[in-house]
Amino acid sequence: MRDCADRPHGLRRGLHREAFAARRGFQKSRQKPQTLGFQGGAGLKTLGIDVGGTRIKSGLLGAGGKIIRLPSVDFNADPAAIFRAVKNSAGMTSAYARVGVAVAGDIDTALGIVRFSPNLGWKNVHIGTIARKILGKPVVVENDANAAAMGAWMLDGAKRYSDIVCVTMGTGVGGGIIAGGKLLRGATGSAGEIGHMTYKPDGVKCSCGNSGCFERYLGRDAIVARFLEISRRRKSGSAKNVTPMTVAALAAEGDRAALETWRRTGEILGVLLADIVDALNPSAVIIAGAVSRAADFFLPAAVAEMRKRAFKHPARSVRIMVTGHDDILGAAGAALIASAPSKK
Ligand SMILES: [Zn+2]
Repeated sequence: MRDCADRPHGLRRGLHREAFAARRGFQKSRQKPQTLGFQGGAGLKTLGIDVGGTRIKSGLLGAGGKIIRLPSVDFNADPAAIFRAVKNSAGMTSAYARVGVAVAGDIDTALGIVRFSPNLGWKNVHIGTIARKILGKPVVVENDANAAAMGAWMLDGAKRYSDIVCVTMGTGVGGGIIAGGKLLRGATGSAGEIGHMTYKPDGVKCSCGNSGCFERYLGRDAIVARFLEISRRRKSGSAKNVTPMTVAALAAEGDRAALETWRRTGEILGVLLADIVDALNPSAVIIAGAVSRAADFFLPAAVAEMRKRAFKHPARSVRIMVTGHDDILGAAGAALIASAPSKK
C-alpha cells in the first residue's frame, strides 16, 4: 500500500510505478486465477463476489489465508444470470461453504436485499435469496465500499489499525468505515455514504435526491467534465473518448490541463478527507476504486487541503494510503465478512 502521510513530496515516481503495477495485476486477473498471500482467514473457504456495473470480480478465500482470484464475468441486469456465470467460472461448486456478495448501493444486509442501486439499475432486488438458490450456500450481502474497507483492512496492511476509512472513487464515490475494530453500519445499514455528504448546498443535482453531493464533484463524470472545461475541449470530437485514465495518461506526459484537473480534484477530495478526519479520527484512510490509479496526480493536493482544514492533531497522525489491490478488494472483503461474522 502506498502511504502519503509521511512523505507528501517527492513521491511521484514511486507512486507511479505502483499504479502501473496495480493496473497490470488488474489485467492479469481477467485471464487466470491468481493467488495473493495475506494473514487471517485460516481454515475458511468462502466465495467473494464483487458486483460492479461492468464486470463481476470474484475470489475464493481459502484455507491458510489466501485469496484465489477467479476469472471475472460480464455484468448482466439479471442477477440470476450473474450468479450462474460466476458458478461456471468458479468451476468448484462444492469448494466453498459460504458466499459474500458486494453490491454498490443501499443494502439491507440483514435480509440480503439491494434496496436501491442507481448505478446497477436495481431496486428491491432480493440478491441474497437469488444467490443462495443458484450457489447453494449461505449468502451475506454487503455494500461494496464496506466490503472494500474490509478488503483493505485485510490486504493492505491496515490490520494493525482499529479505525480506518476506505474511500472508493470510480463512477461514484463510496465509503466504508471500520471504527473500534468493527464495520460501522449505522442504524439502518446505510453508514459510510460519504459521497453523498454535501460539498455545495446549491450545487449540482444528485441521483440520491440531494444537491451538491461530493460525488457530483469527485466521480468519474465530474473529473472528465473538469478536464474538458479546463482544456477547452468540450466541443471537440474526441471529448466522448475522455476518461479519468486518459486524463491520468495526459498528466503523466506533463499536460497542463490534465495536471490542473487532478490538482483541483485533489483539493475537493481534501475537503472530504478533512470532514472524515474531524468526524472519525481514523488511523488511516485508504483510497480505492478505479480513479485511485491516478492518485499520483491528486493525492498531494488532497493531503495538503486536508491538513489545512482538519483538526491539527488527527490530521498529522492520519495516514492517507492508496490500495495496492483494487481489483480484488471488494470480493476479498465480501468473503471476509461472510466468513468472519464477528467482524460484521
Ligand atoms: Zn447524492
